[in-house]
Formats: sequence, C-alpha cells, structure tokens
Amino acid sequence: MATQKDYYNLLGVPRDATEEQIRRAFRGLAMEWHPDRNKAKDAGERFKEINEAYQVLIDPEKRRMYDRFGRADIDPNGGWPGRGFDGFDFPGGVGDIFDAFFGGFRGQANTSAKGRDLQYSMTITFEEAALGVEREVQITRQEICGRCSGELAEPGTQKEQCVNCSGSGQVRRTQSSVFGQFVQVVACSACRGLGQTILSPCTTCRGTGREKSTRKVMVNVPAGVEDGMRVRLAGEGDAGVNGGRPGDVFVSLSVKPHPYFRRDKENLVFDLPLHVAHAALGTTIEVPMLAGELETFEVPAGVQSGTILRKRGKGVPNLHNGRLGDLIGLVTVMTPQKMSPRTRELFEELSESLDDDEEAYATNGVKSWFRKLKDVLTGESG
Ligand SMILES: [Zn+2]
Ligand SMILES: [Zn+2]
Repeated sequence: MATQKDYYNLLGVPRDATEEQIRRAFRGLAMEWHPDRNKAKDAGERFKEINEAYQVLIDPEKRRMYDRFGRADIDPNGGWPGRGFDGFDFPGGVGDIFDAFFGGFRGQANTSAKGRDLQYSMTITFEEAALGVEREVQITRQEICGRCSGELAEPGTQKEQCVNCSGSGQVRRTQSSVFGQFVQVVACSACRGLGQTILSPCTTCRGTGREKSTRKVMVNVPAGVEDGMRVRLAGEGDAGVNGGRPGDVFVSLSVKPHPYFRRDKENLVFDLPLHVAHAALGTTIEVPMLAGELETFEVPAGVQSGTILRKRGKGVPNLHNGRLGDLIGLVTVMTPQKMSPRTRELFEELSESLDDDEEAYATNGVKSWFRKLKDVLTGESG
C-alpha cells in the first residue's frame, strides 16, 4: 500500500509547514479529490492518501516520527508505535463520513478486487533444497463458475432489473459534513449491488458465481532455497472479484536435515573426524555428495583440530546470482578411547619417539608449550 509516499509532497506543503498551512492544504485537496465530487478513477485512492498524509502531519508526535525515520520506515498497515493508525480518527468528526463512504464503496459488488492469496506448505529433502526440484502440489481454490461463467444465473434463464435500485446496484444517501453536503453511495442490499435480480440461480454455484476447484500445480523450487523460504505461484490463488486479478499461492518450504551435511548459506559444511595417525600423516578421503558423486578431499599431513578444509565451488548455488558456495570440512582429531594391545604398544613406542623428537611439533608453535611442560614434568628449569 501507500508506504513510500512523501506526505509533504502529497499535501503540497513545505517541510516546515505550520499546522494551519497543513490544515488549509488538506481541506483544498480533500474537496478536490473527494470521490463524490471527483469522478476520476483514482479519486478514492488519492483521497485516502491525502487523508493519510494529513493524519500524520497534523499530529505533532506522528509528524516528528515521520521526519525522523523517513518515509521508508512508515508503514501505515503496521501501525504506529503506541498509537493506532488505521482508525482514521479525524478531528472534527470527518472520520465518520470517510469511513461510511469507503465502507460503502468497499462493500459494493461492482468494485473489482484481487482474489485471496493461498498458503501451502511443503517438505523437501536437503538435497532437493540444494539442487532444486519440481514438485506437484494440490491446491483448492475458488474459481469462476464454469457453468454460468460467473453470471450467477442458470444459463438460458432471465434476470430482472432490481426494483430497489432501478438496476444501478447503488443506493445514494445524503449526509452533511464540514465539506458540505455529500452523497454516500452504498451497494443496494436487495441485489447486493448487482442491479439485477437472479430468478433462477446457477445450479452449480447456487448463484455465487464461484466454485471450489482442486487442481494440481507444478511448483518449481529453485536450487539454493533454505528452510522457511516461500515460493510464490503468481495468479494461482482464488479468482478475483469482478474482473480483479487472481490471488497468488505461497508455498512455505521446510527442509529436512541431512545426516552429515549442513548449510551455511551457500556453503556445504560437514564434520570431518580424523584419527590421530591420519591427522599426522595426511590422507585422502572421498565425500559422497548430494547428487551421488564422490568428491575427493586431500587432508594435508599435520592437520589440527579446528582446521577448516575448503573446496571452492562445490557448495550450493546462491539463489540470486547462481554463484556456487564452498564445500567445507571441519576437522576434529580423534584419539582412540579403547585400544587393542597392539595399538597400545604402538602408541607407547610412538610416545617415546615423540618425547625425543624435538622437530615433531616445530611447525605449529606448540613446541614451546610442549617443551615447557616436559621441562616441568622432568624437573628441569627452562
Ligand atoms: Zn454458476
Ligand atoms: Zn438493487
């Protein structure tokens, strides 16, 4: 809705306008754009905008917030902090006229309106989120009745002009306000604004012009989606009213977890536990990837716990630019908790050998700490 409007521009007043200037500008514009005086198609919308601008600028608190946070931060639908905004609480009782007027217009049957949006949810696998998938969903929506084509009457039967409104669909009521006399136009209650009386309602839709229909729709889930995202199927929602465009379908995705991969945006992350010998000597591992292929991962000799091993471009595509993230292995070096006598023997041998091997830890800064600890244990001083 009108969230991006410049309220000062709308009223045609300078940013330092006085209350009186704002009031005067509003009165002039309201007279000009009131939909009962102005027959332009967008007069109603303009009048609403002008009203909205006036309500903000005439209220010192709202105006201060508007000046401070700028127009992008103003969301009339979201309401103002601490104060309701939707109520159109006009000073001087004008709000009553306004509400009555637009209330009447909104209810009028020959006003077109967008069809309802529909919400669905869908569970996909981790692989499908990363690689993309096409899936069929069954949606139930309101469509234009196929039998009467939305004409409400049984095909071939006659409609009669409504006697209450003489076929106009509208009933006019006069009301006075600070702007002078206004005619309030409301939908005729006898014919619900149609202007016609249906003698034989359509047997399929019983005179509603709409029928429920369940159909299958293809959902194209692009590669790179994440849990909680929504896919929009434009125009697949309920049919619009009186020529209005149809609503949309929103499909919320929930992504099942993977046994060993997880996502960090476009990066594909996995834990890589290595036993101490592999970590020390280096190794090559094969990672089964999402599409079933094997990715070879070279683990360099002397790798430490916490090391991040990365293969560029083997992750998931970015939703917006298609660029591929990385495959990331997080190394944890594992020491054996239960050992066979043979393994134990080897470790003891290894231990003695490492005690004597000054160079074993030379490359990673652990040496000084290791050396110091050894000195403490053997009672030598540094
Ligand atoms: Zn029908
Ligand atoms: Zn009528």
